[in-house]
Amino acid sequence: MEDLYALSEPELAARLKALGQPGYRAKQIRGWLYEKGAASFQEMTDLPKPLRDTLEASFCLGALAIETEQNSKDGTIKRLYKLHDGQLVEAVLMAYEDGRRTACISSQAGCAMGCVFCATGQMGFARQLTSTEIFEQAALYARELTQRGERLSNVVLMGMGEPFHNYDAVLEAIRRLQRELGIGARHITVSTVGLAPKIRQFAEEGLQVTLAISLHAATDAERSALLPINDRWPLAELLDACRYYVEKSGRRISFEWALIAGKNDQPQEAERLGRLLSGLPCHVNLIPLNPTTRYEGAPTALSDAARFVEVLERYGVPATVRVRRGIDIDAGCGQLKSTVLKRRVEPPAPPAR
Ligand code: SAH
Ligand code: SF4
Repeated sequence: MEDLYALSEPELAARLKALGQPGYRAKQIRGWLYEKGAASFQEMTDLPKPLRDTLEASFCLGALAIETEQNSKDGTIKRLYKLHDGQLVEAVLMAYEDGRRTACISSQAGCAMGCVFCATGQMGFARQLTSTEIFEQAALYARELTQRGERLSNVVLMGMGEPFHNYDAVLEAIRRLQRELGIGARHITVSTVGLAPKIRQFAEEGLQVTLAISLHAATDAERSALLPINDRWPLAELLDACRYYVEKSGRRISFEWALIAGKNDQPQEAERLGRLLSGLPCHVNLIPLNPTTRYEGAPTALSDAARFVEVLERYGVPATVRVRRGIDIDAGCGQLKSTVLKRRVEPPAPPAR
C-alpha cells in the first residue's frame, strides 16, 4: 500500500487523475491530511463515499507502525516505531505547561558516531531514514494533537541518529515540517555532534532553524574520549564553523553538555568552557547524564550543576540545566530501543511459586 505522506501534491494529483477525479481533489485531501489531522479516509466527509473506499483500498495514512508506547507521569509519550523493514526508531512527544508541544524525532536507525555514553551510539549504525520516515514521526504526533484540539508547536531532531550524516533527507524533512505542518523554522532544532563542513553547508541554506551542538567537553583530549568524531573535526574547526553559522544566520547557537559526575562537571571544566565560548552568541543546555548500560558515568548532583551555571555566568555565557523529561520511561536518546531489545533477549521470567 502506498503511503499518502510520501506523495507530493503533484504526485497525489496524478494518482487521483488516474482514478478519474477532478483536479481540486489533491488539495482537498492534503487539507484533511495536514490541516485537519485526519487519521482515516472515512473522516474525509466531503469526499464521495466510493472515492473514500477506493482510497482506503490502495493507500495508507502513515507507514510507521507503533511497536511500543510508554506514557510518563509528566505527559511525555515515547514511541518506538517499526519501519517497513523491521528497523526500530524512537520518537518522543513532550507537553509543557506553557502550551508547547514538542516532538523529538530520529534521523537514522542507529548511529555511526560512536559517542561512548549514548545508547544509540552503542548500537551502531543500521541505515539512513528517508525524508518521509523522518517527517512522518512528527506528522503522526501533529495529527493526534490536532484531533484533540491542540497543536504541535516545536520539533527537535535529537532522537536517534546524527542528522548531518543524513543531510539531504533531514533538510527535506525540515522543509516539509515548515510547509506542511506550519512549524516555523525558529521552532525547529537540529542537534549535531559537530560535522563541521555540514554546519557550514547548513549556514548557507538561509534557514532560521536553531542549531544545537553536542559539545560535552572543552578540550580535544577529553572530547575525543567521549565523542570519537572529535578526532576528525577538533574543537578549533568546530567552533570556526559555529562562528560562521552565527555570522550567516544571525542566530545564536545552543551547546549541549551532558553533565557526568566527576568527569566534566567541575568548576575547572566550566572555566574552560566559559573561555571557549566567551563572546560567541550562544546558550548552554546542561543535561544531567542519562545512565546507559555500556557507560559507567553517573549524572551530576544538582548542586554541582548549579555551580557550573554560576561559573559560566561569570564569562557571560548563559546556561540552564534542562529538566529531564520522561526519565521514568527511558526517554533518553536510544534508550527505549535498547530496553526493548534487552527484554527480548532475556529469558522469560520463571513462573511464580
Ligand atoms: N546525533 C545528534 C542528535 C541526537 S543525540 C547529536 O549527537 O547531537 C541528542 C543529544 O542527546 C546530544 O546532545 C547527545 O550528546 C545527548 N545524549 C546522548 N546520550 C545521552 C545520555 N546518555 N545522557 C545525556 N545526553 C545524551
Ligand atoms: Fe550519534 Fe548523537 Fe548518539 Fe553521538 S550522541 S552516537 S552523534 S546519536
